[in-house]
Amino acid sequence: MAEGFLGRLTGQAAKHADKQFDVALSDEEWRARLTPEQYRVLRQHGTERAGSSPLDKTYDPGVYHCAGCGQPLFDAATKFNSRTGWPSFFAPLDNAIETDTDRSFFMTRTEVHCRHCGGHLGHVFEDGPPPTGLRYCMNGVSLTFYPGEAMPGPAGPDKRP
Ligand SMILES: [Zn+2]
Repeated sequence: MAEGFLGRLTGQAAKHADKQFDVALSDEEWRARLTPEQYRVLRQHGTERAGSSPLDKTYDPGVYHCAGCGQPLFDAATKFNSRTGWPSFFAPLDNAIETDTDRSFFMTRTEVHCRHCGGHLGHVFEDGPPPTGLRYCMNGVSLTFYPGEAMPGPAGPDKRP
């Protein structure tokens, strides 16, 4: 409770610092690997400007990967038009993401990051469409789209047991 507003803001970037991820690069290595905008979003919990990502309007079949480490995150079959200006999905791939509670900006939101590298992807809200009712509101700059790729998994075409 003693934690001030500034403390909450500045504490964000170091949020997952105590976690161990499979891909653990130094700050310099991330800066070298990512574009400045990717670094700002993935590593500093930034948010891209709404409507700025070409992936927002993309509905082709394929798989969305983490732009930081390449981990497959979302099948395009789960993408829907949320009209928010950010790429939105109703379900991630299995074991692809993790969530945290984000109390920045006077809101309590559920933050979403890549399970593999800890890179910040966006937030998840409970106002999505069936079958999950969830809306994974993602920064397009955090994602790399591979058109035509198919993933086995609950969201993919190979969901037969
Ligand atoms: Zn990643």
